[in-house]
Amino acid sequence: MKYIYGPVPSRRLGLSLGIDLIPYKVCSFNCIYCECGETTNLSINRKEFKPVDLIIEELDNYLSTNPELDYITFSGSGEPTLYKYIGKIIDFLNNNHPEYDLALLTNSSLLTDKQVRKEIRNIDLIVPSLDSGIEKNFKKINRPHEAIRLNDIIDGLIKFRNDFEGKMYLEIFIVPNINDTLEEFKKMNSIIEKIKPERVQLNTLDRPGAVEWIKPASEDVLKKAAEIIGKRAEIIGHYSSDTKKKSISSKTKDEIIETIKRRPCTVKDLSNILGIHVNEVNKYLRELDKDYDLKITNEKRGRFYFLKEED
Ligand code: SF4
Repeated sequence: MKYIYGPVPSRRLGLSLGIDLIPYKVCSFNCIYCECGETTNLSINRKEFKPVDLIIEELDNYLSTNPELDYITFSGSGEPTLYKYIGKIIDFLNNNHPEYDLALLTNSSLLTDKQVRKEIRNIDLIVPSLDSGIEKNFKKINRPHEAIRLNDIIDGLIKFRNDFEGKMYLEIFIVPNINDTLEEFKKMNSIIEKIKPERVQLNTLDRPGAVEWIKPASEDVLKKAAEIIGKRAEIIGHYSSDTKKKSISSKTKDEIIETIKRRPCTVKDLSNILGIHVNEVNKYLRELDKDYDLKITNEKRGRFYFLKEED
């Protein structure tokens, strides 16, 4: 499969079939926590990066086998709404495979565009991120394209919510020493009251980010944020106590273990060796990290993962 990947077990979406519409790594942000690494093409130009007819054909063929899925998810290694024909794919899926729920993970930056809001209004679940209510913190964390302004994004989120009948889970990624202050949490809370998402998911680092110095926020900080935001808030990530997960394929898990025991590999290396998408590799590594002492080293060609043989 060229344009879709998985299904992969996701901590938030259950068993999810991913659609990756964007080449690695085009994005309107260059977040310091991005597990895909630095953005190499920082852009706000919407394009048909991959042929829409071929994406639809691949989806149609796959879904004709009636796979069991919790969601079909637009995500990937860049911002999905940069894909010019995302609306066409959403309409195709809703018209031809209405039994499946659609989810979109987005950095919210293009919700400022009326056309984008119109194209994505028929999805079932949107998970937009908004990491800060303060422009300077937003810039530090998300390192956006120069044309993007935080207030426009907030305005776009409010407008989208007003017309949207699906569910919205707003995600906030907390970074120590940037957006972990009381001032920030109170500001975010006042913005959340205007956006009115069903849930607010508080996340923090659990894989290496795009910069070396980033660290996870403590459980106490996440709890403080949850307390201020109130009943909509839930803590996800490695401090979560109620993470629902379906088991990952043990065959792929074993293949990854055997490979990185023999030699250090980047996520891209593993994706090429195993023939699975980089996002899928990241999910497996995240799972493996809980049970194994995964080692990481940063080299010129990227971040390498390896496992030491037990003595
Ligand atoms: S985390 Fe998402 S929005 Fe941020 S740079 Fe990575 S792909 Fe783009």
